[in-house]
Amino acid sequence: MLEQKINEVFGDQEPTGFGSGWWSGVLSAFFGVLAFGAVVCLHFPQLLTSPELRPYYPMPVIRLLIQALIVGAILFGVVSGMLRRKKVLGLTGMGFALAATLLGGASVPINDTLTEGPAIGLDWFLLDMLLMTLIFSPIEVIWPAYPKQSVFRNEWLTDIVYFLSTHLPIQITSFLILLPATQLTKYLAIPGLVDAVGRLPWLVQFFLAVLVADLSEYAIHRAFHTVPFLWRFHAIHHSSPALDWIAGSRSHLVDDVLVRGGMLIPMMFIFPRDMIVAYLFFVTIHATWTHCNFGPTVKWLEPYLILPRYHHWHHTSQKEAIDKNFAIHFPWIDKLFGTHYLPEDGKWPDTYGLHNEKMPAGFWRQTLYPFVR
Ligand SMILES: [Zn+2]
Ligand SMILES: [Zn+2]
Repeated sequence: MLEQKINEVFGDQEPTGFGSGWWSGVLSAFFGVLAFGAVVCLHFPQLLTSPELRPYYPMPVIRLLIQALIVGAILFGVVSGMLRRKKVLGLTGMGFALAATLLGGASVPINDTLTEGPAIGLDWFLLDMLLMTLIFSPIEVIWPAYPKQSVFRNEWLTDIVYFLSTHLPIQITSFLILLPATQLTKYLAIPGLVDAVGRLPWLVQFFLAVLVADLSEYAIHRAFHTVPFLWRFHAIHHSSPALDWIAGSRSHLVDDVLVRGGMLIPMMFIFPRDMIVAYLFFVTIHATWTHCNFGPTVKWLEPYLILPRYHHWHHTSQKEAIDKNFAIHFPWIDKLFGTHYLPEDGKWPDTYGLHNEKMPAGFWRQTLYPFVR
């Protein structure tokens, strides 16, 4: 398997703490790959970049960012090379940075006039990957719930492929397709109701939007657990052997589309479009965060807002919490419907994944899994 190969080539037995050259090596490789991908985007913008995003790029800033990534990859590569016996991580980062530079670096001009039309959307994948990593990886490294869990834990590559799959052409699940989808508000909105809701204070509107979304999500999510045909799709989300921010991306396309659609359509009857967009931002961040390997908990907040420990119990394979905690924002929705489970003592689950069920490995086999069983 590819993941095993990667672990063999890049891994070693040395410690991975700060000062061991491990983090500088990882950062060098990460920055190098991002810079290389970005320069390739500059060369083939028509094919690779999303038409929806092009008008919003402040190109001088983007070029500066690419430059910074190249410099970062080289500097971290040098540091890692000095600190660590196995040089391959740092060399990989420097190799990609060098390739990006040889291809013209940040100053590659964009000559053709770009037109709308199908594109792969590599730009969105790279940008979102960088942003999400910047937000979530530091908190997982500094305050982990499971300190022994590596960033490159078992099946991490599968989850990266899931992340990739929701960012490339069939962007049905990605945020960007949801934005045009909110255009539907024109047809679905109940005018009197939308106007009345629109006059409420912003915070009240937002709270109501999250509440309506979570109630719909609760119903759909519970159906995914109880209807055997639907469970086949949702089992994939539950098959990650460990949780971190990237594990949250593991989800079957059918699961994503039904959940997102089932949440958005009721919202479109009630809320103005900008409130739905605000909610989409919120759910992206909140849902990703609740999958994080992030230990700190605010005791008094736990009954009101879902924190990572709560959603982790939804993912456990331990019998006591199976089919519990369906809500994704408000834990009291589960209390209301009798599906709440959260040990008082601050305990986290011991095991994750499927209970009594085997899932094939890898993105493609999992995508086919619901249909071939
Ligand atoms: Zn579930
Ligand atoms: Zn989850």
